[in-house]
Amino acid sequence: MPDFLPSSIELAYLLAAALFILGLRYLGSPATGRRGNFLASMGMLIAIVATLLDRAVLNYEMVLVGILIGSILGATGARLVKMTAMPQMVGLFNGFGGGASALVAIAEFWRRIGTPEAIPLDISVIVMVGVLIGGTTLTGSLVAFGKLRGTISGAPVTYPLQHPINGALLIAFLAGSAYLLFAEVSPTLFLVLVAIAFVLGVLVVIPIGGADMPVVISLLNAFSGLAAATAGFILMNFVLIIAGALVGAAGLILTQIMTKAMNRSLANVLFGAFGAGKVAAKGGVAAVIDKTVRTIDAEEAAMVLGYARSVIIVPGFGMAAAQAQHAVAELASLLESRGVDIKFAIHPVAGRMPGHMNVLLAEASVPYTKLYDMDDVNPEFERTEVALVIGANDVVNPAARHDRSSPIYGMPILDVDKAEHVIVMKRSLSPGFSGIDNELFYDEKTMMLFGHAKDTVMELISESKQL
Ligand code: NDP
Repeated sequence: MPDFLPSSIELAYLLAAALFILGLRYLGSPATGRRGNFLASMGMLIAIVATLLDRAVLNYEMVLVGILIGSILGATGARLVKMTAMPQMVGLFNGFGGGASALVAIAEFWRRIGTPEAIPLDISVIVMVGVLIGGTTLTGSLVAFGKLRGTISGAPVTYPLQHPINGALLIAFLAGSAYLLFAEVSPTLFLVLVAIAFVLGVLVVIPIGGADMPVVISLLNAFSGLAAATAGFILMNFVLIIAGALVGAAGLILTQIMTKAMNRSLANVLFGAFGAGKVAAKGGVAAVIDKTVRTIDAEEAAMVLGYARSVIIVPGFGMAAAQAQHAVAELASLLESRGVDIKFAIHPVAGRMPGHMNVLLAEASVPYTKLYDMDDVNPEFERTEVALVIGANDVVNPAARHDRSSPIYGMPILDVDKAEHVIVMKRSLSPGFSGIDNELFYDEKTMMLFGHAKDTVMELISESKQL
């Protein structure tokens, strides 16, 4: 192979890394997100081609088989998986990333065991870090995937001394690694440590409630990035180190945004077993069952909306679950054509993953200029005639503002109760993600429009056309 190739490969890696960073930058806004995705994919393509041209590749056939299997799985997943199932798909892919990095670390250790010279300390340390992070990410992600998918019960699994046991396992892993590094290179001990890493992943994730899984998945995403970076150090592949560090940092930032928007600390998510006692006693559905609820039908609701000056639409998980985004977009443009001022209010954790609502509404071609972040839209509610809540619950629960005993107390919410009228569309009075009742439903200005979100929006559309 000609001499100039190594430097060309490094240049290609540099270009790939720059494209990753630029891609992340553009992914920060829905308006440029598509471009960001494209640039980052181009970066990945360049990185893969450059790696394939590297003389370190020993077996092209195996690589090709891997690419084929991966591409088929990726393309099928992207086409078939529904938006509501996106968190579990991301969870599974994180797990694969962690697993791949753990395999690189295991293979490196194994490869060097047979060689006469001792394994250098820096390599051994990085291998053990790779085994720990990669191994826990793999099994932790599989448990998170199972919980989100409903294959494993979403309820937190707790037992006595749970956290001390996890702590003891971590200490055992660290002590065992130190023995391997400084005393004796024992393959048996190494395999025991690999097993501990896998078990730790399961034990750390099972006490976390299914509803907190998106936060966990985001954290595991960060871990999968760190695991990839360790694999990059092992293989001395710079682009892998950079890409891993970027994924790690992005995952950590996302985790922080999510916990902040839910007003929870990361420690509370990881160790709090949130959701263990669903439907809190205080403020639970039973406690308020005899409160008055005002209902409205589609015909009346269409009149309220059609003759309003201004409407703020608040989408939530229920809109995503019902796949009602296209119908909602149609209703919005119909109302606009009647001269109604329409805004969409987006809560940072509406739905089940950050940006969930933005993605769905973008898919339905709602212009980005109509989407307002919580801080921008909250002052607008008191000037607005109708707040139309579609399948959102916790993110509009006023208890978060004043009820200190509520599990969501302190979570910033959309102030829909400040609008002149509120129409809430959902199927029943059932609670949302946090399992608590919503006092908004019993507010005098609230009218409940019960039904499956998509069907009801379609009814609203046909009623509006007759106004
Ligand atoms: P919620 O889960 O609070 O409520 C959704 C509501 O949608 C339910 O009360 C349900 O009521 C209704 N619904 C479900 N299916 C349908 C349907 N087919 N048609 C009509 N309504 C339906 O959702 P929000 O979006 O308000 O809040 C998100 C919650 O998720 C927050 O508590 C947040 O902290 C949490 N979370 C969000 C994350 C994120 O990143 N976005 C991550 C982790 C957690 P009913 O059954 O009566 O129809």
